[in-house]
Amino acid sequence: MPTFIRPDLQALAAYSSHAPVGEAHAPERVDALDTNESSYDLPVFLKEKLAWEYQNQISANRYPDGDHLALKEAIARYVQTTSPLAEGDLTTAHITVGNGSDELIRSLLIATCVGRPAAILVAEPTFSMYGILAQTLGVEVIRIGRNEATFEIDIEAAQAAVENTTAPIRMVFMVSPNSPTGNGLTVAELDWLRQLPQEILTVVDEAYFEFCQQTTVAEAIARPNWVVTRTFSKAFRLAAHRVGYAVSTPEIIQVLEKVRLPYNLPSFSQSAALLVLHHSQAVLATVDEVQSERDRLLTSLNSCSTLKVWPSVANFVYCRPITKTLDAVFEALFQQGTHIRKTGGGLRITVGTPEENTRTLDHLEHVLS
Ligand SMILES: *Cc1c(COP(=O)(O)O)cnc(C)c1O
Repeated sequence: MPTFIRPDLQALAAYSSHAPVGEAHAPERVDALDTNESSYDLPVFLKEKLAWEYQNQISANRYPDGDHLALKEAIARYVQTTSPLAEGDLTTAHITVGNGSDELIRSLLIATCVGRPAAILVAEPTFSMYGILAQTLGVEVIRIGRNEATFEIDIEAAQAAVENTTAPIRMVFMVSPNSPTGNGLTVAELDWLRQLPQEILTVVDEAYFEFCQQTTVAEAIARPNWVVTRTFSKAFRLAAHRVGYAVSTPEIIQVLEKVRLPYNLPSFSQSAALLVLHHSQAVLATVDEVQSERDRLLTSLNSCSTLKVWPSVANFVYCRPITKTLDAVFEALFQQGTHIRKTGGGLRITVGTPEENTRTLDHLEHVLS
């Protein structure tokens, strides 16, 4: 490694969206159930509308709108109507948009941690991007555990970490429902977050909000130290377009606007996000099926004595094999064309179409029997 590169980056592994597997093999059909996207592409009539907009309204030679005002207005309306907030509580000043919520996570780290002693707190197993992005910015990551029966965070350990670390914790990252484990924040966890000192920013990642309808956006606009992040990559079926948003106080939002890149969201992606918000009923029509299919998967998996399965309020389920190794189950599923994610000492399976889920269950039965 050349000496001009920071030595701490040498040891850091790049994020890989797909886990590596032993040997190359190409089954005739592959079910991509490893990244929690929607299994349903946008409806054709919406793709046609988007194509029309590209042809008639987007100037490819011009920079995108760098203020995102129309998109922020549409997001504010959507967030307000799907939360306990009253009309007028939420304005465009409470919202910033990012190139995926990954960009928002990085902006939050820049805004709170970079350039001074700082650490973030995460409770594992959880979304790996917080740790990875923090490390690329030289920010310390403090990791605590969770209760293995419920995957509630270890509140005692969390409190001890907040009180005892050498580098001050500037930010706590929570996911609700958590990935990969599928559990939403409990009252005890929320109470702990609420009593944190105001020097610590609480970030609640609600990437899977649409599947559970549980939200803390009311806290995010009422408290001085709370941010909610969301994404269009999951229920809104727009992962290809990389659009995320954050909800917080105007003060925090202003800082996030300062540290982001000027043209962070391509025109085409802004159009796509506006379009799905405008047609949210049609786009989110698949959520009901995902919920019932998730419950069907859970029921079947629970009847299998060689698997430990946890409840889920998201669009994925989490389990651990009891008799076989993780690697053995993961690889055998992969060879059959069922791609899932091996993470946090377990297997995370995205809920797919009914056909995909039936194949997942068949393939699992084949592996476990
Ligand atoms: C999928 C996911 C995201 C989405 O990230 P984008 O960059 O918006 O695609 C964010 N947080 C969690 C926990 C996720 O699982």
